[in-house]
Amino acid sequence: MTLAINFDDITQAAARIQGVANRTPVLTSRTANELAGAELFFKCENYQRMGAFKFRGAYNALAQFSAEQKKRGVCAFSSGNHAQGIALAAKILGMPAAIVMPLDSPEVKMAATRGYGAEVITYDRYKEDRIAIGNKLADERGMTLIPPYDHAHVMAGQGTAALELLQEVGHLDTLLVCLGGGGLISGCAVAAKHLNPKIRVIGVEPEAGNDAQQSKRSGKIVKIDTPKTIADGAQTQFVGNLTFPVIQELVDDIVTVSDAQLIEAMRFAASRMKIVIEPTGGLAMAAAMQGVVDVKGQRVGIIVSGGNIDIAQFAKFMA
Ligand SMILES: *Cc1c(COP(=O)(O)O)cnc(C)c1O
Repeated sequence: MTLAINFDDITQAAARIQGVANRTPVLTSRTANELAGAELFFKCENYQRMGAFKFRGAYNALAQFSAEQKKRGVCAFSSGNHAQGIALAAKILGMPAAIVMPLDSPEVKMAATRGYGAEVITYDRYKEDRIAIGNKLADERGMTLIPPYDHAHVMAGQGTAALELLQEVGHLDTLLVCLGGGGLISGCAVAAKHLNPKIRVIGVEPEAGNDAQQSKRSGKIVKIDTPKTIADGAQTQFVGNLTFPVIQELVDDIVTVSDAQLIEAMRFAASRMKIVIEPTGGLAMAAAMQGVVDVKGQRVGIIVSGGNIDIAQFAKFMA
């Protein structure tokens, strides 16, 4: 079966975002290495523009719009970071943007989306269907809907994070990537397995919402209710029709992490590495450092996916 994206799509995306997206730093920590008994390389997307990797996919998608699409603009539905990524990319490329967001999205994420000049339309994530709302908006205004993960240009853009990491650090035995809908991990898996077919790519999702793990193990997309977890970037109910085949073919396993383990990872990141990460951003880190995945003696890549968290909320987790 042909997958939605290949390695060329990712190198083309890398060329498109070059000079617009940040080439984020790769951090290391001796303390983290000692705790994990491994050599860890943290690709810090909390330092990406708008604070998460989502800008990569959003810009890669919007940069390929036709003149007519650009004039009508873009719409999107998102629990937060995709919204900000689309809003910022639309602003840079000079097109209108309308974003459908859950009523209970973190205030910082809604404010940032509005701050980038996008119109925000809210809905109840426990009752209403965001896909239907997004489609209606696209129909009524002739806007192009860019979904948060199930889109080839989005997936290819996200894959540039792993491409940069591997270009910078060379050989890795294992790559740990958090997952919600699977846009990030599918792009990263395509990049990583092309550069090193032997690399182990492992997905990490919240314990409360292990739909991707169930899907991978059962061989079909499993849908769950919106999970209650602090990892708001991974509160998805199902993986995508385009991301799932990539997960099936190129991801070796999917593991889960509890909210308590996420808080521990956030505290480690803040106290020892001096970085602010959001709960979802700590999924891969927690899996590597808290014995969820066996990484002993290995060189391990960890995608730290984002750092957007309300500062008062962050303080509560740190207390
Ligand atoms: C969106 C997001 C994820 C999940 O990405 P998918 O492509 O949906 O798997 C993980 N972390 C952060 C910070 C995000 O914003």
